[in-house]
Amino acid sequence: MALIPGTQIFSGSSRDKNPFSAVLQAPTRKTYSLTLARKLIIWFFVAVAIAGPVVLALHQARSVSLQAEMDKVTSYALDVQNRADMTTDQTDAGIRSLAQSKATDPCSASQIKLMRQIDLSSSYIQAIGHVEGETMICSSIWGNRESFNLGPVDFTSKRGIKFRTNVNFPFDPASKYAVIERDGYAAIIHKQLPIDATTQEKDVSLATMWLDYGQVYASKGTIKPEWIKALNGKKSIQLVDDGYVVAIVRSPKYRAASLAALPKTYINQRINELTLFLLPVGLVCGLLLAIAVFYLIRSQSSMQAFLKAGLSRNEFFMHYQPIVDLTTRKCVGAEALLRWERANGEPMRPEIFIPVAEESALIHSITERVAKLVGKDAQKVFAEHPDFHLAVNVSAADFYAEDILQILHSLKEATAAGAGNLMVEATERCLMDASAAKSVITQIRAAGVQIALDDFGTGYSSLSYLDAFQIDYIKIDKSFVDKIGIDAPTSYVVAHIIEMAKSMGMKMIAEGVETEEQATYLREHGVHYAQGWLFGMPMPFEEFLKLATTR
Ligand code: C2E
Ligand code: CA
Ligand code: CA
Repeated sequence: MALIPGTQIFSGSSRDKNPFSAVLQAPTRKTYSLTLARKLIIWFFVAVAIAGPVVLALHQARSVSLQAEMDKVTSYALDVQNRADMTTDQTDAGIRSLAQSKATDPCSASQIKLMRQIDLSSSYIQAIGHVEGETMICSSIWGNRESFNLGPVDFTSKRGIKFRTNVNFPFDPASKYAVIERDGYAAIIHKQLPIDATTQEKDVSLATMWLDYGQVYASKGTIKPEWIKALNGKKSIQLVDDGYVVAIVRSPKYRAASLAALPKTYINQRINELTLFLLPVGLVCGLLLAIAVFYLIRSQSSMQAFLKAGLSRNEFFMHYQPIVDLTTRKCVGAEALLRWERANGEPMRPEIFIPVAEESALIHSITERVAKLVGKDAQKVFAEHPDFHLAVNVSAADFYAEDILQILHSLKEATAAGAGNLMVEATERCLMDASAAKSVITQIRAAGVQIALDDFGTGYSSLSYLDAFQIDYIKIDKSFVDKIGIDAPTSYVVAHIIEMAKSMGMKMIAEGVETEEQATYLREHGVHYAQGWLFGMPMPFEEFLKLATTR
């Protein structure tokens, strides 16, 4: 006979013929595969614990070295651009002051004196003089004594500035000079000065260029045209091109840019140096982590062994925490909470051992034990107190275990529960597989057992999502109740949860109520039931019964 409508699990009379016998073996298989999966996961984590910091150290050495080298070439390029800008500044100022003197004779004694002053005060200008056609007529070097043929102009800017880029002078025949001419005056500039930087590396490439003419004005080392092309209107760029780390920066004042490049061998050197330092650190961290993981796992597996021993030595018992009607303050029922006192008298908190049990198949044995203990404590209690209800907690694994209905049925029988006397507290994790959860909920409710959603608000589901499930109660988590009366930004959440639950016609039980203020707030906002230290701590069944029948 089917004891619980809508299920066939309880049909059949003998255990052997019972479809259940197959289910009874399931946990063994499940335990085995869980153990294997656990072992694999453990080894994976140990491997990750060791390899992680080592890989991280190597990666760090690489990225730190690259960044340091990038920063270095960028500072070289900025330095070059700074010198180039100072050259342009001095050229511009020198020519301007000669042109502005409005001398009728550009080679007069006073004009030559001015040229010499400019020459002396401008560190980047070798000489300055007056030019007619291709000839420098007079200058800060030769005065009026000698004139000098500069040769043809290489290019002229839009503003009429004439550039000669490779001029030889008798005072330094080995070097090339640039001559920049405007308004009849020209400055002679040593081309190498902007790129004459003192760098640690001999094989650094440096260049400075005029952007409008696509001309590299001065350079040393390898410069590839594609690097300059990559600048493409940007303020600055950093790039790694085969074998080189390159930085190009634009002048903030002029249409000019400067470049610096270093061979990648310097990065490799730096990486090697850093790796030598970081690798042992990574290895030590990895080993420490692996040891920590090992101990954690060992303590978990020893906890599992303790749990098994605890079950066989009957170290578990139940406490019951009263649930009250907030309006009448009458006790309407209780939540059954598992307690474990180890052989040495040491209590173990469920928050510690339940998650460990949930990770293994042990939770199933624990739930079975809970149902047995409650059944024993509350033997036939509903025959005398049909208005009470008792709630038991189930884990997600129980929820999908095929014998959950049989466990509940046995509990119903032991407590003489009628419809609505028993309640199952399931967490949002139980609803993860929506279609399976719906069918389990339907079967549990068909068996006359109510469903409460525990720790509501701490999981993933939204209230509207809950509409899809036939849930009788939601339990408002203590973390939200704690915020009542506190001027915290999250304190409005509880009001929101209450409103939404009301609009969906769901009943509510508030958890962890510790103060009168919280109780009043909840009652005024339409929450019917509550549990918490304000009304009673978890206690042995006898005590609970006394309290419930006298209040
Ligand atoms: P839970 O289901 O949310 O149970 C409520 C917890 O809040 C209980 O802790 C209870 O003692 C505590 N509590 C109740 N009122 C107050 C209050 O006013 N203030 C404070 N600070 N705490 C309050 P407990 O008994 O330590 O249980 C912790 C968790 O362990 C439970 O949370 C539940 O998730 C799990 N658990 C307990 N018993 C069982 C069980 O039989 N089966 C399963 N699967 N899980 C259980
Ligand atoms: Ca609970
Ligand atoms: Ca809870």
